[in-house]
Amino acid sequence: MPIWTDIPVTGALIEHTDGRILMDTGSNPEAKKVWGPVWEVFPMTKFTDENRLENQLKMIGLKPEDIDYVVFTHLHLDHAGQAYLFKDLKKPLIAHKRELMWATYLMYLGKIGAYQSVDLEALKGGEWFTFDGEIFELLPGVELMFVGGHTPGSIILKVTTEAGNHYLFTGDFVHLPEELERESKGWLLGDIDEYITGLRKIKLLSKRPRTNLVISHDPKLWEKYPKAPKSLR
Ligand SMILES: [Zn+2]
Repeated sequence: MPIWTDIPVTGALIEHTDGRILMDTGSNPEAKKVWGPVWEVFPMTKFTDENRLENQLKMIGLKPEDIDYVVFTHLHLDHAGQAYLFKDLKKPLIAHKRELMWATYLMYLGKIGAYQSVDLEALKGGEWFTFDGEIFELLPGVELMFVGGHTPGSIILKVTTEAGNHYLFTGDFVHLPEELERESKGWLLGDIDEYITGLRKIKLLSKRPRTNLVISHDPKLWEKYPKAPKSLR
């Protein structure tokens, strides 16, 4: 059963009987200081203590120590920015192999873009686990699905709850609901072929009964879904 929490800009906690999965970790709390010039491109309009991951977890009675798996939909700055909390705790850090390779490759080329060295350096030597190929079932009912499109190793999460509902957490593969109709992503597009194929796959899956899309950057997200400490079922 997933619990949706307000980890800016993105994130969700999946409370599973076999372990707790944190999907994405939001932005670095010191972003303005540590991001460098990219701050001009992605300025955060609001970040308070409430937006710290520790405080979001506290709202549902948890600490970073209580998390069993950290899954990255991709490693951009608004998704990997507070993952440093989990490195020394030796929590499994899980990403698609192509994503970790691409992010570290860009860092070495000095073309970091929407990735941040501060995030990646902090996770160097962590308990990384990568998967290759299309689908990896992390726990029963929790599938990590490769889509690419936005970044070379972008994944989405397909979660089936005990109540029999399905949720597709799109990460940044789909930023906004408008993309579903337009099938266009503007300058946030990585690979058009992967994007169209992945988008059609998501649209097809969303036709299944009791299936919902959770689009992290949708400004109307809070109207559609409950905020922590309430949860999706
Ligand atoms: Zn992104």
